[in-house]
Amino acid sequence: MSARPDQLQDSGLHTLDPTSWDEFRRVGHEAVDAIADYLDGVRQRPVCPDIPDDVRRRFDAPAPSAAVGIDGAYREFVETVLPYPHGNIHPRFWGWVLGTGSAAGVIGEMLSAAMNNNTGFGDNAAIHLERQVIRWLRDAIGYAPEAGGILVGGCTIANIVGLAVARNQGAGVDVRQQGVSAAGPLAVYGSTETHSSNHRALELLGLGRDAFRAVGVDADYRVRVDELRARIEADVAAGIRPVAIIATAGTVNTGAFDDLDAVAEVAREFGIWLHVDGAFGALAGLAPALKHLTSGIERADSVAFDLHKWLHVPYDVGAVLVRDRRVHHDNYRMLGAYLSAFDSRLASGPINFMEHGLQMSRGFRAAKVWMTIKAYGLETLGSLIAQNVDQARYLAERVDAHPRLERLAPAPLNIVCCRYVAPGLSDEELDDLNRRIVERLHDDGVVAPSFTVLGGRFVIRAAITNHRSRYEDFDLLIDEVVRVAGDLT
Ligand SMILES: *Cc1c(COP(=O)(O)O)cnc(C)c1O
Repeated sequence: MSARPDQLQDSGLHTLDPTSWDEFRRVGHEAVDAIADYLDGVRQRPVCPDIPDDVRRRFDAPAPSAAVGIDGAYREFVETVLPYPHGNIHPRFWGWVLGTGSAAGVIGEMLSAAMNNNTGFGDNAAIHLERQVIRWLRDAIGYAPEAGGILVGGCTIANIVGLAVARNQGAGVDVRQQGVSAAGPLAVYGSTETHSSNHRALELLGLGRDAFRAVGVDADYRVRVDELRARIEADVAAGIRPVAIIATAGTVNTGAFDDLDAVAEVAREFGIWLHVDGAFGALAGLAPALKHLTSGIERADSVAFDLHKWLHVPYDVGAVLVRDRRVHHDNYRMLGAYLSAFDSRLASGPINFMEHGLQMSRGFRAAKVWMTIKAYGLETLGSLIAQNVDQARYLAERVDAHPRLERLAPAPLNIVCCRYVAPGLSDEELDDLNRRIVERLHDDGVVAPSFTVLGGRFVIRAAITNHRSRYEDFDLLIDEVVRVAGDLT
């Protein structure tokens, strides 16, 4: 007989534990088989299958008061949820910047759920594992042992955590005590290509978007360092305090890298905190041939990046590292009798992660990161990055060779931006045509690029952070764009 989570134990007490773990084992084994089939067969399915109306309606159902059991819940999930993913696990998904995930990461998620570790503090293996992962990432960035950091939900949070330290260090007042209004006018610098998550950080940190100085970029979409310096000098002359420079390692539009060494030099000259947003680019140096791109990143005061993008750890996980881990801790130290130092292994440990970021209770994200890095090794993970960059080069060449396709930006890394051009159409008509091409591609589900606007023009954008893509998939992308364009014109 199947054990129900709502049943009473012999003692008469309620618990979610079954009297027998047989159902858990059976459903668990079945789920692992289903996952293997699911990932093994992903290439044969459309990228983002449409959800049928009858399935959509099931999401309106209210919460059940009666139990259906693990088996019942599992079966409904497999029927109504599993078949309709966003599509980023698919080999021909190249939209936005989304990672593919991995089998090892799935196991990591499962095991961390079993431990259900609150990884805020304590002397437990989860804390040690996260410290180890942070050390691995620190070494990958090229930071010295004085650096530290924390895993967070993604690069948006990582940017917020890092920029808060920058603000507190640079505001000239005790922001933690007095609030940001005690400071005079503050300014933050970054290129026009700076990711919007940083603007959100400025909103949340009380600086406001007006504090941001959008510095122009060169033809390669890299920040103009002379203009950066001029903007800082002008602000200083006007009595405005510069608190941070945000450099980007891998811009979301075109994959451009700011000249980190040159920007670090400006930051040093003016004594300004340098924060690097390297959501996907920070780890490009895992591929030896790309190491030059991140040169100077180790001079930044803080670096934010994702592990769910180019490291293929399942969502969601990113990291923020701070070059001086004491400065990081000082800015997140907490007060409270229930938190004060206490010398048991349960209560204390090598690091209070809850005093390094926004979350007090926090999950065991390090498990899936550790599993991914251990299972595949940095060398393989680096080759996958190099492979994607080579695939972008291949795609760019195919675009350049095609009479009806036009590339609209350099492709220095893993992002290719292009549009279909039909003779006799104006730029506005081409914008409209290319928009409709992307819509049709998404509906058809064979290939999934995304889009952006460059120099006022709508472009089809392929951002390749996908370990399942093969070279012929990019041939198919070209064929599909041209086929759909033919249908539409
Ligand atoms: C994706 C991205 C972010 C935001 O990261 P999330 O993980 O989505 O929060 C920030 N900056 C850049 C350059 C990005 O590509």
